[in-house]
Amino acid sequence: MTGVAVLGATGSVGLSTLSVIRRHPARFRVVAMSGHRSVGKLERLAAEFGTRELAVAESSALKDRPDLKAAGWRTGPEGVVELAALPGVDVVVNAVVGAAGLPPTLAALEADKRCALANKESLVAAGDLVLEAARRGGGELVPVDSEHSAILQCIGAARRDEINRVILTASGGPFRETDAEALGEATASMALRHPTWEMGAKITIDSATLANKALEVIEAHFLYGLPYDRIEVVVHPTSIVHSFVEFVDGSVLSQMGAPTMELPVLHALTWPRRPPDPVLQGFDPIELSPLVFEPVDEKRFPLFRLGVNAGRAGGAAPAVFNAANEVAVEAFLTGGVTFFGMAEVVAAVLEALEGRTACDLQEVLQVDRTARRCAAAEVKRIGAWQSWPQ
Ligand code: MG
Repeated sequence: MTGVAVLGATGSVGLSTLSVIRRHPARFRVVAMSGHRSVGKLERLAAEFGTRELAVAESSALKDRPDLKAAGWRTGPEGVVELAALPGVDVVVNAVVGAAGLPPTLAALEADKRCALANKESLVAAGDLVLEAARRGGGELVPVDSEHSAILQCIGAARRDEINRVILTASGGPFRETDAEALGEATASMALRHPTWEMGAKITIDSATLANKALEVIEAHFLYGLPYDRIEVVVHPTSIVHSFVEFVDGSVLSQMGAPTMELPVLHALTWPRRPPDPVLQGFDPIELSPLVFEPVDEKRFPLFRLGVNAGRAGGAAPAVFNAANEVAVEAFLTGGVTFFGMAEVVAAVLEALEGRTACDLQEVLQVDRTARRCAAAEVKRIGAWQSWPQ
């Protein structure tokens, strides 16, 4: 029986994880769960799965619930980190949103756990620290992100020097066919209508701007030790091919499947084995034909290039990109900046903090805070809300 801690249990990937576990009760036990602030939801899930180790990241969410505090519920980011290192936990599914996911990733790896990583921001903000924590503690990093799960599956037993390049696929998001003028007027509710994947708000906006794909390029760089010029991106609107790996002999492998997070979640829980799962069967190549691939249009999706360049720049630049992007997305969701305003905010913050480095967790968190402050000031300065369609 594998003991699982589901961090971010009430979010989209967290719920996918629990839905996979529901179908495999003899295989997995949910030892611990955390949520951001949805106390009621977490309480119901805890009752269903018989989970006793619980944490809520937002401390104030428990202020009217002394009963839960008395029952041992943890609060605050430290509470979530504690769950990641508990005895009895074999796999930590880290589905926390944003840079807040970094400390639990480090804690899981340092405590010799498998970290099934859905929180790509951990690797983006502090890739070197994450790899070092795995080396130090003996923990193992297995991606939940569908593209990176695909790459892991394609690589199989191949050695790193046998990989020529990887090609990540991107759905292109809801604005794949929207022209630049219309994009300038795009609203959050339009951006939240993703054509193939059902996900949380932050990642759905990131998919609409292709910032998500830049984060994934950086994630692939750290996960597979590949230089940036060997990581490419291609738009594939139906999200059936999850990525390609081209080997040095010219052979290309891809992994395919329905666009559901349950597939990469199950794989991350059981890798390198494959348990039978009847729900995820039913691949029909005829129905899925033809598979279409297109280049990325960097003009309409400037956050993509900004993110990849931040990855290439190294140092603290990816952490700065990630933090500024989180603030920009929040501002876009609340009508504070326009679609292109997000890229303006991020570009300005990257420029202001160019050349910064961050060598330990404290420095990464410091850079993260500085970038957020800087981005918030930039959101105000741009003041795009004034021209926002009412
Ligand atoms: Mg992905």
